[in-house]
Amino acid sequence: MRLRRRRRVVVNLSMTSQVEYLDRIETVSADKLAQLQWRKLRRVIAYAYHNLPFYRRRFSDAGITPASIKSIADLARIPMVTKADIINETIACEEYRIGIEALEGRQPDNVVMTSGTHGFHTFAAIGDYELSRGAIRAVQREFWMQKMRPGMRVVALCPGWHFLSLLDCKAMGRLRVNCILPWGTHIPRFAKSFLDAVQTLRPDYLLTMPPMLYAMLRECERVQVDPRRVFASVRYVSTVGEPVTAGLRSRLREELALEDFFERGGSSDGLWGGGECSFHRGHHVFADYFYIEIVDPDTGRSLPAGERGAVVVTNLTLGKSLYVRFNCEDLGMILPGECPCGRTHPRVELFDRLSNVLILDGRSITTYDIRCCLDEIPQTCGVPFFVVKQSDGGARIELYHPSPEAPKDFDRVGRVLSERLGVQLPVQVIRTMPARWKGRIIDERAQTAAERYPRA
Ligand SMILES: [Zn+2]
Repeated sequence: MRLRRRRRVVVNLSMTSQVEYLDRIETVSADKLAQLQWRKLRRVIAYAYHNLPFYRRRFSDAGITPASIKSIADLARIPMVTKADIINETIACEEYRIGIEALEGRQPDNVVMTSGTHGFHTFAAIGDYELSRGAIRAVQREFWMQKMRPGMRVVALCPGWHFLSLLDCKAMGRLRVNCILPWGTHIPRFAKSFLDAVQTLRPDYLLTMPPMLYAMLRECERVQVDPRRVFASVRYVSTVGEPVTAGLRSRLREELALEDFFERGGSSDGLWGGGECSFHRGHHVFADYFYIEIVDPDTGRSLPAGERGAVVVTNLTLGKSLYVRFNCEDLGMILPGECPCGRTHPRVELFDRLSNVLILDGRSITTYDIRCCLDEIPQTCGVPFFVVKQSDGGARIELYHPSPEAPKDFDRVGRVLSERLGVQLPVQVIRTMPARWKGRIIDERAQTAAERYPRA
């Protein structure tokens, strides 16, 4: 209903390009946005200090009161919170409530679980505010920015237990789209069923995760059906959970004959997210809901736009578990300059988990960088790959190709990696995908070949 009360804003960027915004705040001046963030930051810091025991203790230990934070620069004095801090507190409290729940005296409407990084699931409380006036509005803007419109049929392949799935479903309801959530386990093993669902339900829009989409495309290849036929009704795809490089995005757009392919990102640890606009210049993070910093992972020093570092988030709204200077342990970068779409909110590019950064030949490299190299070669653009940490301390790249004859251009991968990244990595072709994997890095020391390929 809120959608009807608000007036949409349409701005002509040129004679041929038009951008439609959901809220006026998307284009307010950077100064006004900074003033708004500062007001909201002061409010959440004061709330955390006066009402949340977890933060009160940490602030006191650091000798900080809300009065000590006189400007945004002072924010760096507040100790960062890590995932390990949340885990330790959960163990100590023996329950999900650990003193960060900013519910303003109300009971939570939902308790959501994280995917279990570090082998331990943590939880966050979500109140009514978050789902009625909080970050749900940021998700609505994201969908709107990514061309989702009332009346569209959207098939959403998202895990039911995840915080983002909850927000997505509520946001789609508000946008009055016809949302279809196929029941089942959303992992690549069941790609065939989801491919059937897309073919039968004929959605305009598909929300999914990259591994599911790639598995669906492999299934098309296996049964020798043109993906353009299966995805004929689909105009837009938006994925979340893994970065998609520019080359791969263009390839997928072409392969599926899409009008556009979007990416979203964020973290359920820290309860934040953002999405790409049509210009694909990073994820717009709506600054009236989240304050993002990029810091040096070793020293904690704040880094300027254009430098890669750890993503640190502070929530700017209450009514949920509150994260103040939470280090998401993701490698990201605030992109410098302005976005041609006219939105003034910061744009963040996400590369990988910090723990997945590889040190190869003395250089820090992410699987995103490796994917960019693979994109340069038409035959390896979009090919599933893994970086295997070998038991001898070295590493190699494994490229998936199901048929016995790998394309000749696979030989070029080593050279491109050496030229672009300055690393020498052996490249091996695999004909079977590993049975269990998360991310693109496999540690040979933790998983034997027999465990990786049980059916090979
Ligand atoms: Zn933009």
